[in-house]
Amino acid sequence: MQTTINLSEKSQYYLELEEKYGAHNYHPLPVVLERGEGVYVWDIDGKKYYDFLSGYSAINQGHCHPKIVQSFIEQSQKLTLTSRAFYNNNLGDYEKFITKFFAYDKVLPMNTGVEAVETAIKLCRKWAYEVKGIKEGKAKIIVCEGNFHGRTSTVISFSSDEKARKNFGPYMPGFVMIPYNDVNALAAALDDKEVAGFLVEPIQGEAGVFVPDKGYLSKAKLLCEEANVLFIGDEIQTGLARTGKMLACDHEDVRPDILILGKALSGGMMPVSAVLADDDVMLTIKPGEHGSTYGGNPLACKVAITSLQVLKDEKMAENAKAMGELFRTGLKNLNSKHITIIRGKGLLNAIVIKHPNKEAALDLCLELKENGLLAKPTQGDKIRFAPPLVITKNQVAECIEIIRKSLNVLD
Ligand SMILES: *Cc1c(COP(=O)(O)O)cnc(C)c1O
Repeated sequence: MQTTINLSEKSQYYLELEEKYGAHNYHPLPVVLERGEGVYVWDIDGKKYYDFLSGYSAINQGHCHPKIVQSFIEQSQKLTLTSRAFYNNNLGDYEKFITKFFAYDKVLPMNTGVEAVETAIKLCRKWAYEVKGIKEGKAKIIVCEGNFHGRTSTVISFSSDEKARKNFGPYMPGFVMIPYNDVNALAAALDDKEVAGFLVEPIQGEAGVFVPDKGYLSKAKLLCEEANVLFIGDEIQTGLARTGKMLACDHEDVRPDILILGKALSGGMMPVSAVLADDDVMLTIKPGEHGSTYGGNPLACKVAITSLQVLKDEKMAENAKAMGELFRTGLKNLNSKHITIIRGKGLLNAIVIKHPNKEAALDLCLELKENGLLAKPTQGDKIRFAPPLVITKNQVAECIEIIRKSLNVLD
């Protein structure tokens, strides 16, 4: 059965505007949002929805968190950008705060997630030549099949997603691809003495919330240590309380040599990303060798401190853990013949839909939208469920009911 999409004339107008004047590099669900608060968003016709995407986990703290908004307003009326040509009185405070928060010597502030990934790659290579002693131009970084680390030409060079790569070459060399969740493949790849780093997502988010076997991350970290290779953890999506711990690596007591953060570091206010490492790695980059005009701007610094503080003060990791368990149990108890797999950690979850119609996941998302819950299909047959971490027990129960009702569209 097909879901009928009810679109107001007003919504249609905005869809057409984007179609006509915007590049066609996205394919959004047909809903035009205008307001958000906590777990909810409202469209331009006043209809309310649960947001089960949370800006791809950038809005862990909930939409327009009052404390983060307050920091944003206060700082934006004072000073927003100095560039790094001068000092400002927020950057140092932020650097101290975030390095103490995650227990690293140093931080390098950037803006978008992919910039932080690029920074980590550059940092790893510098370390390879100046500390590890690999011959210049030869360093390799191991990456995993199914990875998602962003959209720059370097980063798509080591994507296994044809859509992300095709006709964007020539590609950046120096990356070795191995299967995810495979310690033997990692061990074999680490035999190569020119390997400098292993770049990995603790859970592959874009791949459809692929959770590796227990012990994978800790074993991988150990193998990297033995080979004198940097373990680079991309926690842009999995970090900041999303999976029920402050970092997903914390589930296995793994401390990445280079930690990459983004998305929820600003609670959805603006692009803020960061790379954390200890001195032996971080100090290989010297003045003038890397930077960003907006990186470490005073507004971002203030917003990021509050965004982290709110996660801790409001016990969002603990809530993500408890609500995640409740949510997955609720999904299991639906006993739906259309759901083959339910997986995830904390509030980063996905279901895999089995249906003869290969558009079934999209149809279900359209029906969920009609019933007041926004989620997006990924990789064709999977749907990610990742609400803001402020969701309550009653709200989880209501969402399970929406999903139960919406699954009827697949009968
Ligand atoms: C979103 C994401 C990125 C890229 O972040 P942008 O801010 O979109 O550049 C990188 N890695 C992971 C794991 C992500 O989820």
